[in-house]
Amino acid sequence: MAEFVRYKMFIGGKWTDAADGEVFESFNPFTGKPWALIPRGKAEDANRAAEAAHTAFTTGDWPKLKAFQRGALLRKLADLIARDAERIAHIEVRDNGKLIAEMAGQLRYIPQWYHYFGGLADKIEGAVIPTDKAEMFNFTRHEPLGACLGITAWNSPLLLLAYKLGPALAAGNTFICKPSEFTSASTLEFAKLVEEAGFPPGVFNVATGFGNEIGDALVVHPRIAKVAFTGSERTGTKVYERAASQLKRVTLELGGKSPNIVFDDADLDNAVKGAISGIFAATGQTCVAGSRLLLHEKIHNQFVDRLLALASTAKMGDPSHMDTQVGPVTTPPQYEKVLNYIEIAKGEGATCVLGGGRAKRPECGDGWFVEPTIFTGVDNKMRIAQEEVFGPVLSVIPFRDDDEALHIANDVMYGLAAGVWTQNIRRALAMSERLQAGTVWVNTYRAISYMTPFGGYKRSGLGRENGQEAIMSYLQTKAVWISTATDVPNPFVMR
Ligand code: NDP
Repeated sequence: MAEFVRYKMFIGGKWTDAADGEVFESFNPFTGKPWALIPRGKAEDANRAAEAAHTAFTTGDWPKLKAFQRGALLRKLADLIARDAERIAHIEVRDNGKLIAEMAGQLRYIPQWYHYFGGLADKIEGAVIPTDKAEMFNFTRHEPLGACLGITAWNSPLLLLAYKLGPALAAGNTFICKPSEFTSASTLEFAKLVEEAGFPPGVFNVATGFGNEIGDALVVHPRIAKVAFTGSERTGTKVYERAASQLKRVTLELGGKSPNIVFDDADLDNAVKGAISGIFAATGQTCVAGSRLLLHEKIHNQFVDRLLALASTAKMGDPSHMDTQVGPVTTPPQYEKVLNYIEIAKGEGATCVLGGGRAKRPECGDGWFVEPTIFTGVDNKMRIAQEEVFGPVLSVIPFRDDDEALHIANDVMYGLAAGVWTQNIRRALAMSERLQAGTVWVNTYRAISYMTPFGGYKRSGLGRENGQEAIMSYLQTKAVWISTATDVPNPFVMR
């Protein structure tokens, strides 16, 4: 056991084990071996975390801080993340198997969320209402909600946390993060930086364990005012139902089955790179994966040839090497799920033109690797075109004209993102308007920013993260009426 890193939870400013002392193992997806022990919190720990966050919201230094002081703390945190970006990126790679090339870039970018929302902290302004009532002064205040809960997925734990924590703290709330059981380490490392930045105890807490244990206990805990969730549509629906039983505010960032549409007037060299980055980057484990490639029939065959030429050269292997292009799948259940979907697609009659199973290359060792896989001849009604795989599996679907492309693109239950490749500006604008998706990329793919709203249409989610809009979902509006009249008129009549 000596080689294991032994983590503790962070609750009320203290590092602590689970109340019953239980732990679970966290695995390295490249080696398939455990490397860390994480506290397995349950209802009692959920209660401790919720009480700590509530106490920090209602008493102590945090509620007394001026907005600009909250902003200054967030900016200090940003600087500490930047300082430790490289170190945390390596821990993340060990824990979730994503490429160091991607995680190092992500960790270097995450400080911007805390700079941006730190800057917004003292710009939350109410309004003076030009009221129609005589002798009345009427204004609004935007006030924080209380203790907020962030539940994150395993693919980009600290990025998904930044989407939630930045606006939540800028608005004056306190926060508990329940990271995925598969990737708790980076969030616990991050908590050390929150401590170093000097946030009062209980303002930020990390409660680790399993979703159906500590996660559910937190969702229904009466001290929690809001739940911000990133994960699958199935779990998100459950969390929404559970939170609704107590009328909690909820934002949901869920899955997708995003179309990447290539028209015959596109710059095909760029579009091929866009198709690859849409599905094989991050081993397809990204909510915005362009997992349905819609190709105009005129360019279909030549495009597939070019795609195969590029995809078949993808370098697989150790995700901690800067030149690796496709890493392992993060979790054993996900590994089995991806392989199962490949079999489903074959059974449905799709043609596998690349990959199609476990990667048995020597450079993949015992890791959970799936070959980059491409299916052609996919019908949009097939399960492989309708259900989120969350792995390196691409479905290619041909179309005849713009209307058919649009129909296929929108004919799924999801609506997270879409890509459009064309050199025709009218077509680009028309598609951007008619695609049912929270994000549309034209001649690019997978661009995100702290300042741009992000979220889903249809069953891809509720609410928006990032940008100025995000902060409003961590605030509630109070209307204040002050009478300037010298006496109260008829008390039996509404004013
Ligand atoms: P899951 O839905 O399985 O889990 C998400 C989180 O919810 C985890 O922390 C999980 O904990 C927790 N959880 C599970 N059950 C419960 C419960 N009953 N109550 C409270 N919390 C619970 O998703 P994955 O982690 O597998 O992530 C992949 C999914 O996330 C994909 O569908 C992907 O599209 C989506 N995603 C969406 C993004 C977006 O911004 N729209 C971004 C990134 C991913 P535990 O791990 O312990 O079970």
